[in-house]
Amino acid sequence: MSTVPQSILQANEKYAASFAKPSIPRKNFLVVTCLDPRIQPYEQMGLQFGECGVLRNAGGTAPNALPNIIVAQNFGLRDIAIVHHTDCGLTHITHQLIRDAVQEANGAEAAKTVDQFEFHEFKDVPGSVKRDVEYLARHPAIRKGTQITGWVYDVETGKVEDVVVS
Ligand SMILES: [Zn+2]
Repeated sequence: MSTVPQSILQANEKYAASFAKPSIPRKNFLVVTCLDPRIQPYEQMGLQFGECGVLRNAGGTAPNALPNIIVAQNFGLRDIAIVHHTDCGLTHITHQLIRDAVQEANGAEAAKTVDQFEFHEFKDVPGSVKRDVEYLARHPAIRKGTQITGWVYDVETGKVEDVVVS
């Protein structure tokens, strides 16, 4: 066995030893954000364990999170905060770059499978937040009356800035 799963087990043993089960959910909203390890939505937005749901994907893009958002809303996580960040990987890639990387790793047939995906890459971070807030606000499956807010987290300063409220 590799050392990574062992370290997870050891860390979890310590965690479980002092585990305090939260009363959930205390805040009925959902954070949609990037998978980037520099993003820690609980700490950065003053949220406590059990207060909200967190959906993460590359970029924190709403279209790629949509099926999960619909499920979460029907489990009671009604309001949505879209949080994108500066220096996001999605500002540095293109569909072609990802396709080429898959081709190099796994061959041409594998690369073709990438064409079924949209990565929703962007260059303008506040613009991508507004795009995603508008996308959700217009989407027929998002519950009427949902408050959707948009935020940008700055990886250089640690500050979160509000961009848009639907
Ligand atoms: Zn990112």
